[in-house]
Formats: sequence, C-alpha cells, structure tokens
Amino acid sequence: MDKKRGISRRSLLRDGAAAAAGGAALLSQTRAVLGQPPAVVTRSRFRAWISRGDGPGRTTLQEAALRPITGRQVLVRTEATNLCYTLVPAVLGLAAPQPATAAQAPPAAPAAGALAPPPSQRRTNDMAMIQGHGGVGVVEAVGPEVRRVQVGDRVCVSGTPHCGACYRCLRGRSDMCQFLSAIGPDDLVAIADLADGTPVYQNSHIGGLAEVMVAFEEWVVPIFTTKPAAEVGMVCGCTSVAGLGATAAHGLVAIEPASSVAVVGCGPIGLSAVQGARIAGATTIIAIDPIAARRQVALAVGATHALDPNAEGDGLVDKVRSLTTWPTDRLWAGGRNPGGRRPGSGADLVIEAAGLDAVAPRAERGPDPTGVLAMQQAYRMTALGGHLVTTGLIRGDIVLPGNLFSFGGVTHHSGQAGGCSPMRDIPRFVELLERGRFDARSLATAVVPLERMLEGYEQVAYRTTITGIMTVS
Ligand SMILES: [Zn+2]
Ligand SMILES: [Zn+2]
Repeated sequence: MDKKRGISRRSLLRDGAAAAAGGAALLSQTRAVLGQPPAVVTRSRFRAWISRGDGPGRTTLQEAALRPITGRQVLVRTEATNLCYTLVPAVLGLAAPQPATAAQAPPAAPAAGALAPPPSQRRTNDMAMIQGHGGVGVVEAVGPEVRRVQVGDRVCVSGTPHCGACYRCLRGRSDMCQFLSAIGPDDLVAIADLADGTPVYQNSHIGGLAEVMVAFEEWVVPIFTTKPAAEVGMVCGCTSVAGLGATAAHGLVAIEPASSVAVVGCGPIGLSAVQGARIAGATTIIAIDPIAARRQVALAVGATHALDPNAEGDGLVDKVRSLTTWPTDRLWAGGRNPGGRRPGSGADLVIEAAGLDAVAPRAERGPDPTGVLAMQQAYRMTALGGHLVTTGLIRGDIVLPGNLFSFGGVTHHSGQAGGCSPMRDIPRFVELLERGRFDARSLATAVVPLERMLEGYEQVAYRTTITGIMTVS
C-alpha cells in the first residue's frame, strides 16, 4: 500500500504493540465493543463519473460535494475499480445488438417471478448515478455504528453484500444475503450533491467510478495487502470474485484433484475460473471462447485445452466429452463414462461464464449473441452426475433435453458471484494473489486512470480487452 495515503490495520497493530501502551490497547478493545466515535466528515468535494438520461454520452465526469456519513456507512477513498461488462449499457448508453436471424430471437419471457424487482417510484435513468460494482480503497471515515473496519484499513467494497446475520448468510449462502433485496432505485440513498443541488446516488449502494465510495459496512471487506491497486482491484472485482467463487471457494461445489473442468466463456469471470480450477487441482481444464486472444490467455493461466465454439460448431459438446475421456473408461475398469456409449464422460464441473453481447463485439463474435446457446451447451457438456455453475446474464429462455434434465444427475448451481461468501472468501482470494497463485495482470489488460474511464469501458464493451481496471491516483 502507498504509505502516503493510508495505514493498514496490520501496521496499526504493529505500531501499537511497539508503543507498549496498555491503555491504548484497552481503548481499542473498548471501541470494538462499544462502537467507534462519530465520523467527522466535511462536505468535501470529489470527482465522479455521473450517469443520467438515456443514450450515448449519458456518463460525464463531474464534481460532487459529499454528504456527511452516518450509521453503518463507510467512506472509502477509491484506489481501483473493475469495469464490469454488466454495466456497459448503463455507462455507455449503447443499445443491444439485434439477433442476426429469427432463430436467435429470444422467445417472449414470462414474468420473472421471484426475481422481478418491486415496482419503483423512481426511474434509475432519471437519477444522477455513480455506476460501478464496487472496488478497492482505503477507509477514510466510518459512521458511528460501523464495527467491521477502521479508518486506514485497506478494503474491498464487494459487489455483493455479506451481513453474516440473515438466514441466507447463516446457511452459507451469503451470495443471497438479504441485503440484496434493498438495492432498487427506491432503496438508494444520496451520498452527495451536484453543484445545482441534484442528489447523487450509487449503483447498488456501492458505485466505484469515482474518487470515493460510500458503502454500508455489509458490503465492505477488510483486506491486508500491499499489492498494487490494479492487481488488488482485479482479484477483488466482481468478475474475478465470481470466477474464483465458482471454483476456489467451494461454496457451491468442490473441485476434486485430478477432475475435469470446462469453462464456457473466457472473459474475466471465465479466466478467473480457469485459474481457480488450476488452483483447486483439476488436471483437465477446457477453456471455450470465440476470441483467439482470450484462448491464448486461458492456456497461459492454466487451461489444458482451448476450443473455439465457432470452429467446433454443433460438435462442441461431443468435443468436450472426447477430451474428458478417461484411461479406464472401458466397462468394468472403473471409468467415468456412464454406459460408455458416448465419447467421453463430459466435464465433472462446468462453469458457464459466456453471457450475452451487450453490444456487437469488435473481436471474433460467438455463435449466439443472446448467450442462450452457450448456457444450453454448458448443461449438455456436464458429465452425468456432474455439476454446473452458471454465472452469465442471458437474453431469453433456455431449452434443455427433458430426460437429461430429469434423470441425468446434473446438479445445477445458480448463484450470485459464483456462490462466493465475501467475508470468508475475498481475503483468501487476495492471499492467492499475494502468493503468486492468481495471475491478475494477465486479466487486467486495460488499466486506465479515472480521467480515461470511458476509453477503458469501450474496450470492455467491444471485447478488445479482457477487462478494464480504473485506477485513481
Ligand atoms: Zn459486475
Ligand atoms: Zn446476510
């Protein structure tokens, strides 16, 4: 960490011990029980990318005046934030590409049911909004009720919250933490004001595309690392957390050593999943992506095979099955291929990380811009009795072979952030970075300063980079 801009709790503890001041230690413990003193925050000004209105040009760099923080709010001075592909439409105001053929047009979707947001009084596009899915930085001030972090801590503002006290968190599914239910337009609280008095909000209470983030403590995870901001921003970004969450966290499913893993889609989620599979001990790791540059990176960070879905066409699923053939697959010899009638068994674990095209790519296009085909293929390339984790945002409904779905033994794991539990897992992911097990640099191929954020986001949108990281100096 940059010594000029903050001090870690680790150094605080070390310095505190050196001072051998028993009173100070006692005071620190007392604060941990009774809460921290009220934050004193002036209406300081900061620069933020503010999105408002519709269409291209909706996001501009402006100056805002911070509102005083209260309660469980944490003020974080941003060091880095990842430019998540999910927010391409919100940041750049670009329209989604139209399907090339009628067959690619998604069928009319029924009501979204449990996932349908409640009706809102406010329209997100009318609000002055700082976009972003969180980031990393240093705590500058805390509200009086905050316990999880202290001023000077280096932290990850997580894309998903982890309260640790709700029913889902207590059952080990903090990726479904109840705090996720309070991020709609009507739930957001203003954290700043523009010069004309317009209140400024943050996407999901976290934002990130600004010099500061104001997050409730449920979203804030302390991390103690001295790694460069761009690398920490990568491994703590929503995409790497999802990829590692699906593979190295074992929150949803555990990868056994010498098992086979297929990763469909090698953007930042998929390439993190490839690394997580390698770290967890998989020995056959099949990376699938239409973009040659991404397949190259996949092979460099741990994939044993790389497939182009355009070149494989309808044979993609059979190709994955043939690559997962096991030496003992002959009947009675203890193989993995049920019945032995198919070419190979399919992958023990498949990670779907393809998703839809938010805009038409300027790199090699995949066979289906809606992401539906990739999800269906991911299901079919999973071994009978195997596991599938899906992470992609798709446009439309999926159709699966009914009998395979009914009694094929495939367990589908659906979740936020690959099922990651932020407080449990993100510090471990940072440790993987620190120990050289996770390669952040190969994934963060467009690192841009705050002033050039839009340039970085366009590279992400058009898939001419793997992902982008915005840094604040
Ligand atoms: Zn995201
Ligand atoms: Zn919770």
